[in-house]
Amino acid sequence: MSEEKHTFQAEVAKLLDIVVHSLYSNTEIFLRELISNASDSCDRLRYAALTDESLMEGGNADFSIHIAVDKENRTLTITDNGIGMDKDELVENLGTIAKSGTSEFMKSLTGDESKDVSLIGQFGVGFYSSFMVAKKVEVYARKAGDTQGWLWTSDGRGSYRITESDDVGRGARIVLHLRKEGDEYLEPLRLKTVVKTYSDHIAIPVVLGAIAGEEDSAEETLNSASALWTRPKNEITDEQYSEFYHHVANGFDEPWHTLHFRAEGAIEYTSLLYLPSSQPFDLFGPDRKSKVKLYVNRVFIADDLEGLLPPYLRFVRGVVDSPDLPLNVSREMLQDNPQLKKIQKGLVGKLLKDLKDRSKDASDYEMFWSAFGPVLKEGLYEDFERRDEILALSRFRSSASDDWRSLKDYVADFKEGQGAIYYITGSDTAALKKSPQLEGYIAKGVEVLLLTDPIDEFWVTSVGVFDKHPLRSTAQSATDLDSIAKSDDSDKDKDETEDDANNADIDGLVSRLKEALGESVKEVRTSNRLTESPVCLVGEQGGMSLHLERMLKQHGQGEGLTSPRVLEINPKHGLIKRLANQSDEIVSETAHLLLDQARIVEGENLPDPIAFAQRLSQAMERGLL
Ligand code: ADP
Repeated sequence: MSEEKHTFQAEVAKLLDIVVHSLYSNTEIFLRELISNASDSCDRLRYAALTDESLMEGGNADFSIHIAVDKENRTLTITDNGIGMDKDELVENLGTIAKSGTSEFMKSLTGDESKDVSLIGQFGVGFYSSFMVAKKVEVYARKAGDTQGWLWTSDGRGSYRITESDDVGRGARIVLHLRKEGDEYLEPLRLKTVVKTYSDHIAIPVVLGAIAGEEDSAEETLNSASALWTRPKNEITDEQYSEFYHHVANGFDEPWHTLHFRAEGAIEYTSLLYLPSSQPFDLFGPDRKSKVKLYVNRVFIADDLEGLLPPYLRFVRGVVDSPDLPLNVSREMLQDNPQLKKIQKGLVGKLLKDLKDRSKDASDYEMFWSAFGPVLKEGLYEDFERRDEILALSRFRSSASDDWRSLKDYVADFKEGQGAIYYITGSDTAALKKSPQLEGYIAKGVEVLLLTDPIDEFWVTSVGVFDKHPLRSTAQSATDLDSIAKSDDSDKDKDETEDDANNADIDGLVSRLKEALGESVKEVRTSNRLTESPVCLVGEQGGMSLHLERMLKQHGQGEGLTSPRVLEINPKHGLIKRLANQSDEIVSETAHLLLDQARIVEGENLPDPIAFAQRLSQAMERGLL
């Protein structure tokens, strides 16, 4: 085959441009990325060979990653005997960025070089970092089991070439033609330090070949080459834990929590798990699979196995290694394996217990909760058995405090006569705090939880009760505020207007409003929920909340949904009192205006904005005359 020229996918070209022109510090990470790829490649072959021994090509089962320095030609070569790549894979893997994260990556670039470089790798662009130090990169690759090898070459400027090559063993050999700035990577001492720092935990030996022309130079293994999780805890430093986290999680933050333990008994397994300190970019993607890597006796099996951890713990990273799982079975069979279920149970129990311990330090726990609370709360809805544990770990924003609150804190601060836990759902805490549905509660000093995560809509209704206290929406159903004692600081003036309210024919107004609004609302009623606003809309107890209905519609799922709405009026409000004495015609016009006003405050679309504008102009005109 003659040489084929390909252009890089546009995103790759842009990325390479940044790599070549803007990233000058921390260049040593390219080596970590290439070693990490080589190690993954060996892992993948070891797994594939479980079901197809011929892939090992009759031996060569000693996996290794070899580094060779050629000072004369100023090249650095990294060779592995892993699974390799065929031609299509070279195009796919080294010409495009398959992962959906590229545009996120581009967006996350800050212009701050040291931060940007740390983002590389997190988005699956590790290989391209070799262009930080190389002016030309050659990848010789042969896929395990194939006879034909390939050579991929590029100078990182817009295009690459692929041609057949016979000079290649199983796996991949990556030759970096170093730029002047990359000369330091021809020095054995520098290479040793980099490998020791970043790749010591790699379970496959990383070997530096003897340097040609240097007399006392001999081949040397640079890393410990034993899987980190199998080493005793007291022999592992914080740096090694952290570096392994970067490798296994593709994360460049520091882990917020590290959990390393060995379970013995009915089933044996070792696990090294991490809770990140910041959200991975794909946390809310459609794929809710666990990202923990599963090994069986040090053989890598999968990194997205359903059933290893439940979806609400999908932010956990790390490895689980068990000798008690079967090796030669399909993923599907493994997913349903009863032993795996036992492992899951053990892992979840340990993780929740550690979270409980760490939740005692409120400000520290806040870091975790702000990042992963919205995901963990999915467990309230999905994991009935763990519900109480997760509820105890949950923290909430509230109308009464700027701090995160637990349900236990909330109940401890109940007002006299209060029996329920009140909440309101919406998309933004600042807006919720101002919503009319809260006025009566705030006036009485009753705390209301402000729930703004989409999942909140689902778990509150399925949980229903905490510590025998019902969870009650302030935006649904009639209020039960009368039974709750007023707090001392509530406003006295409001009481004095009560007599006036009694003089107006509020009952008459209620039925006139209902008549004017017809089927647009299910009911009109007076309410002590309101203290400042004249009206508000609420949903029906037990029905779908108005916020949920809007959320579903935004996602194109709420076609035709219209939960019944109740218009509540504030009998103490000046406008309402005066309206009670107006003609039917004015009541009818104002009824529509009030309903539209309540819709706007609620964040709903107006069914007829033109009619609203006309009514508003007329009302203003009347006011000005
Ligand atoms: P990542 O490793 O995060 O996926 P990279 O840009 O480093 O991103 O690599 C892209 C892909 O190229 C890898 O996912 C892998 O499929 C392939 N690849 C890279 N290096 C090797 C290698 N040494 N052997 C086999 N495949 C490799």
